[in-house]
Amino acid sequence: MHLRGFKPNALRMQRMLASVKAAGVADLQVLQAMAEVPREVFLAPTQAVHAYDDICLPIGEMQTISMPKVVARMTELLEVKSDAKLLEIGTGCGYQTAILCKLARRVFTVERLENLSKNAVLRLQALGINNFSAKVADGTLGWDIQAPFDGIIVTAAGDKVPDALVKQLKDNGKLVIPVGPNEQSQRLLRVTKMADNRLVTEDFGPVAFVPLIGEQGVEKVKASRRIG
Ligand code: SAH
Repeated sequence: MHLRGFKPNALRMQRMLASVKAAGVADLQVLQAMAEVPREVFLAPTQAVHAYDDICLPIGEMQTISMPKVVARMTELLEVKSDAKLLEIGTGCGYQTAILCKLARRVFTVERLENLSKNAVLRLQALGINNFSAKVADGTLGWDIQAPFDGIIVTAAGDKVPDALVKQLKDNGKLVIPVGPNEQSQRLLRVTKMADNRLVTEDFGPVAFVPLIGEQGVEKVKASRRIG
């Protein structure tokens, strides 16, 4: 697979960016990063026709890629600097990873499902994106040996903010994560770790994500009840 220089359809991309802006995302660097990533590359051929619609789409293994406006919002909330070292939990199809790679120095991404991780790595490499490391593991435990991180983004929802992730944040680092007991009542939270170790939590409203399954997330059995 060789997709270096692959250009997204300009009209459809403009339409997607317009709906992201209409949703209130104003960060120009985030919008620019999104403009550079062809979303269809991360989808199955049957889904590619919807690539620029502002909807979430299936990516296999009962998982979904988030709506572009949610990806944009979460990325904006991370306030990524160009020298940042980031951790992403829930690689999925790799679309969010690609956007983070455009903004940060290096992205460490963790996915629990091997197949998704493998495909995401192939797509990112095909696009010539190389400033990331990927592993298959339980992301609720973070990536200890690479910590601390300037920012951590979690794209699946657990019942609480995993302690391990808070521990792996730098001072003034930000963790953006959906949290809630079920898909109907999740909130998008941003936890900032202050220099004195105090945590400031902000709530950015309702969201709906697939379950974060793991030691500091929800159990697999409970998760299947959640989806079903
Ligand atoms: N950001 C992704 C969204 C994928 S959906 C994208 O752009 O496609 C969320 C992903 O989180 C799923 O792929 C799911 O398998 C993964 N996930 C759930 N619990 C996890 C855990 N404990 N560790 C790592 N990945 C997890």
